[in-house]
Amino acid sequence: MTRAAVVGGGAVGLAAAHRLAKSGADAEVVLYEREGIASGSTGRAAGICYDAFAEDLDAEIGAESLRRFRELGVLTECPYVWLAREGDDANADAIREQVPRMQAHGRNVDLVDPEALAERYPQLRTDDVAVAAIAHEAGHVDPEEYAAVVADDLRSAGVDVRTDAPVSLDGPTTVDSPTGTEAFDAVLVAAGPETKPIVADVGVSLALKAYRAQALVTEPLHATLPMTYDATQHVYWRPRDGGLFVGDGAHPVDPNEWDRDADDSFLESALERVRVATTLAPDVNRSWAGLCTATPDRDPLLGEVADGLSVATGWHGHGFMRSPAMGERVAAQMLGDNDGSVAHYDPGRFDGDEEFDVIEGMALDEE
Ligand SMILES: Cc1cc2nc3c(=O)[nH]c(=O)nc-3n(C[C@H](O)[C@H](O)[C@H](O)COP(=O)(O)OP(=O)(O)OC[C@H]3O[C@@H](n4cnc5c(N)ncnc54)[C@H](O)[C@@H]3O)c2cc1C
Repeated sequence: MTRAAVVGGGAVGLAAAHRLAKSGADAEVVLYEREGIASGSTGRAAGICYDAFAEDLDAEIGAESLRRFRELGVLTECPYVWLAREGDDANADAIREQVPRMQAHGRNVDLVDPEALAERYPQLRTDDVAVAAIAHEAGHVDPEEYAAVVADDLRSAGVDVRTDAPVSLDGPTTVDSPTGTEAFDAVLVAAGPETKPIVADVGVSLALKAYRAQALVTEPLHATLPMTYDATQHVYWRPRDGGLFVGDGAHPVDPNEWDRDADDSFLESALERVRVATTLAPDVNRSWAGLCTATPDRDPLLGEVADGLSVATGWHGHGFMRSPAMGERVAAQMLGDNDGSVAHYDPGRFDGDEEFDVIEGMALDEE
């Protein structure tokens, strides 16, 4: 391959461009981003990263990505706890069932006694916790900082990073942008929910939907808490800026028309759920909403969809933590140098016209 294009300057496109540029194949790589680097979901993400997946390939990809974040020095180590409260049998059973599978894949994950958890984190309320688990190999990354580091690295490696460059496709490997129409040997579209309309222009139909997820950052709280997902209350958080980044929720939306601000009802209910789960009394510092992508089986769409044209999307809210390894793998496939493992995520497993309900990524009991 001599020329490759990547559409999308989010975590996934950046990771793929990195692999293409460092392949040793001397490929000329152009990365097109509609706005600025990390201006899509990546810049709105919590940056929670872990390898606590019950499926073997997901676990391997999570672990590989953690290694990459560590190598770059952008990961702040922090355990990830997920829990279900009394009366919530479905989530409690899901946690009990998943932890041994994660352990079987070599993941450093344990069921943890709620009392022991409360001793370690006195600000966490665990009196009615039925089951809790902890992933020891976890941490958080500032997604914008990470994206800036990778984008700088790409520029140093000779990648032509073009921002304010919205593209459409004139053919599977022909890209139309404000800088003109250019032909490539291979094109990857990693444009989040926009991937669907972009490849539709060349007759490819993707089984992909968008949903809106909301987030807030609290005022500083002097809290010592693990990253946590309270499955019963359906809220998650991670430490950020001396307070907490708090998120929840999923509402399918039209990716062209959605509110980028968080709803008042979300702010109220998210804070209330943190109050129930902890001894803290948080206030909102700032808030926003972002888009996530969903597929019928909750696995991503990764791989070739037409001759020379590949896609990488459909992350169910777990795209950032998996982006280094997923970007690497789709790029390796484009270079004809892959171990076949991404065949599992082949977009061709769907016709593209499937009807399906969005199940957002944090849900434990509907695997
Ligand atoms: C509130 C919230 C919290 C989240 N928290 C986490 C988390 O803790 N951990 C985790 O793993 N994931 C999290 N996610 C999910 C994560 O943000 C995404 O899965 C991930 O960022 C996807 O990366 P991406 O590169 O595929 O997409 P994006 O970051 O959306 O990048 C796609 C890029 O393509 C560009 N683009 C679109 N159309 C065009 C076009 N026509 N031409 C050129 N460029 C185009 C966009 O501008 C965008 O920059 C969260 C998401 C939200 C909304």
